[in-house]
Formats: sequence, C-alpha cells, structure tokens
Amino acid sequence: MNWDYLQPVKIHFGKGRVKEIKEIARELGCKRGLLVAGPFFFKSGLAEKVIKESEGMIVASFGDVSPNPDVAEVDACAEVIRQKNIGFVVALGGGSPMDCAKAAASVALTPDSIRKYHGTGVAMPEKHLPLIAVPTTAGTGSEVTCVSVLSDHANGKKAPIVSEGFYPAAAIIDPELTYTMPPQVTAGTGIDVLSHAIEGYWSKGHQPICDVLAMHAAELVFKYVYRAYRKPDDEEAREKMCEASLIAGLAFTLPKTTSSHACSFPLTNIYHIPHGEACGLTLDYFIRINAKGEGGERVEEFARRIGFKDAEEMADAVLELKKKMGLRCDLKDLELDDDQIAELVRISRHPNLYNNPVEITDEMLDEMYRYLAGK
Ligand code: NAD
Repeated sequence: MNWDYLQPVKIHFGKGRVKEIKEIARELGCKRGLLVAGPFFFKSGLAEKVIKESEGMIVASFGDVSPNPDVAEVDACAEVIRQKNIGFVVALGGGSPMDCAKAAASVALTPDSIRKYHGTGVAMPEKHLPLIAVPTTAGTGSEVTCVSVLSDHANGKKAPIVSEGFYPAAAIIDPELTYTMPPQVTAGTGIDVLSHAIEGYWSKGHQPICDVLAMHAAELVFKYVYRAYRKPDDEEAREKMCEASLIAGLAFTLPKTTSSHACSFPLTNIYHIPHGEACGLTLDYFIRINAKGEGGERVEEFARRIGFKDAEEMADAVLELKKKMGLRCDLKDLELDDDQIAELVRISRHPNLYNNPVEITDEMLDEMYRYLAGK
C-alpha cells in the first residue's frame, strides 16, 4: 500500500491564544491584514477586539459571510483584498468564514471570479496570500484542510474546491472562542467532527497516520460533545471538542470524506439543513451499510478500538447522541414526494460518494431516503 502524508499548517493550540495573531503574522513576514469573519463576531465585539489586539497588523475587515458561503461573497472579499492592497488574511469563525477567506486569498491574486474554479474541474492557481485561520466552532477542521466548500445558490450548487494553496499558513485554536456557541450549533458542528473522523477512516483513500487520528478524534466526540452541548461553559469539554475537531480535520483532509458528506450537500442546499446536522443525518445508516459490505472488518475494528462491542453498537450510539442533542434523525416532517426523493438521489451522486468503501447504488440511496422520509 502506497501513501503520502503532508501537514503544512503551523498549529497553535490553547486558551487565550487568539491574542497571538500579531506575533504569528510578524513571524510569517506579513503586513496589511484583512479580517474575514461572520456578522455574529462584529455584533459580539470579538472582531473589534481582534483588530485592536493586532496593533495595526490588521488594516481592514470583511463581514459579509453567510453560513454555506456563496461564490458572490468570495468574489466580494477578493475585491476588497485587491482594492486595499492586502498582504495576509485572518479568518475568524466557523467553516463558513474560513472557507470564504481561503478561496478569496487565492483568487484575489488573479483577475478571475471564483466561479471559474467552483465545480468546474479547473485547478485553482497555487499562489495565494498567507492565511491565519482561527476557528470558533468545533467543527469543520477547515483550519488544517486544503478544502474550501462553497455554494452557488443561484445555480443550486454546493461543492468543495480542493487546492494545496488552501492550507492556512497557521492555525490558532483557542477553545475560549467556542464558549459562545449555542447548544444547537455545538451539536451540529460536533456531529460534523464525528463524520470527518469516521468517513476519513473508512474512505478508500485511508492511510495509517490518518487512521490513528480518526480514532482519537471519534473517541473524544463520544466522550465530550454531549457535555459541551449541555453546559456551554464546561471548559474541559470545549477544549477536548476543539482538539477533536482539529484532529478530525487532519484525519480526513487527505483521505477525503465519503457518503454522508455527499448526501449532505443536497440536504443543505435544498432543505437548508445545517451542514453538520446534514452529515450526521445519514452517518449511523452508512455505518450499518459499510460494516456489512466490502471493508466491513475495518469498520468493526474502528468501533472496537474506540470502546464499542461492534459497529452496530457504535451506530446505535450515534443515533442516541443525535436524539439527545435534538438533532434531526429523519426527514418525515418534510413530507417528501417521489420526485423530491429522486432529486435527492440524483444530487447525492457527488464525487465524495465514490470514496465510500461500499459501492452506493441509486437503489440504495432511494431506499435510504424513503426510510428517512418514513415512506
Ligand atoms: P458556520 O461557520 O456556518 O457557522 C454556523 C453558525 O454558527 C453561524 O450562524 C455562526 O455565526 C455561528 N457561530 C460560529 N461560531 C460561533 C461562536 N463561537 N459563537 C456563536 N455563534 C457562532 O458553521 P460550521 O459548521 O463551522 O461551518 C460549516 C461550513 O463549513 C459549511 O459550508 C461546510 O460545508 C463547511 N465545511 C468545510 C470544511 C473544510 O475542510 N473546508 C469541512 C467541513 C465543513
């Protein structure tokens, strides 16, 4: 078995370390920073605090980033970078601001719109401005991945772009920044971490280093996510979930995600189910499918090594966790008709589906969506 491992992001982990942005930027030789953050952080005062603490290193800000960022937001952000002669970018927020900043920091060095590269197969130029990623959810792991997931809402498209140039130069993971996450965001983003760990492990692109990372991350989620959900100021649970998110990011960025992520895209795009919740919706279903099919022994081993009797017990635990945290366990309330189920099947046929160890046919997707829809 041949495999390659690369992890080019300098990681700074620990409470209160967001104030180190200026030192890290200086170390990187950066000048004239742009802060990219979601609107929440401008209201909460965190964006202003970060700009102030940068002591002049950050000279401008961009706050028009929505959840599941749109290609138009990336283009607007890239235009600010060009106009203000920006030298580096700081992304503060969940996966959405981080992904917007990654794409903008690359495309700004070209005259292009990001649309040229989104879901078209055209490779992104590798040249990019240095990016310091500061996650506020635990979460996507985007701070250590070479992926930017963007939506083109006008054309009903949500798709990841992968580029070596998307790796941030540095990541600051400060668990204190996650304390303000409301329980529903904690739950959804926490299940996303579990999906990254499990899918990274069973992906056809799996490899030994990522396998070990995946098991560590999944174990942490089972132990701490419910505590963080129940008690947002549980410092230990928040810190351990940040560790899980970061390590799950490292576990999936090279092997890539699989079936649950492929199915999440239409669920988010058409039915507006938040990203993590959409991934978690099918996770236990695919655990049961993958445990029974080709490569099933690896899924059983994963479950045993993180403390379950078998994969079935792990799938039950995922379902239980979703129920306890008020996350969606089915699609019954949407009252889907046959055409809508057929649309979900068609759009779930996303490239990530082909990383799944078991071949997922349209008939299997149809059966799953009918089961989830209660039909
Ligand atoms: P998000 O960034 O979309 O944020 C969700 C909501 O939570 C927003 O309303 C935001 O304001 C709020 N929020 C975030 N942090 C908060 C905090 N500390 N306190 C209070 N509110 C807070 O959520 P996300 O799940 O982190 O990111 C999802 C996006 O990331 C999706 O587009 C998904 O496809 C993408 N994604 C990217 C990667 C990658 O490797 N690039 C991996 C997985 C997912």
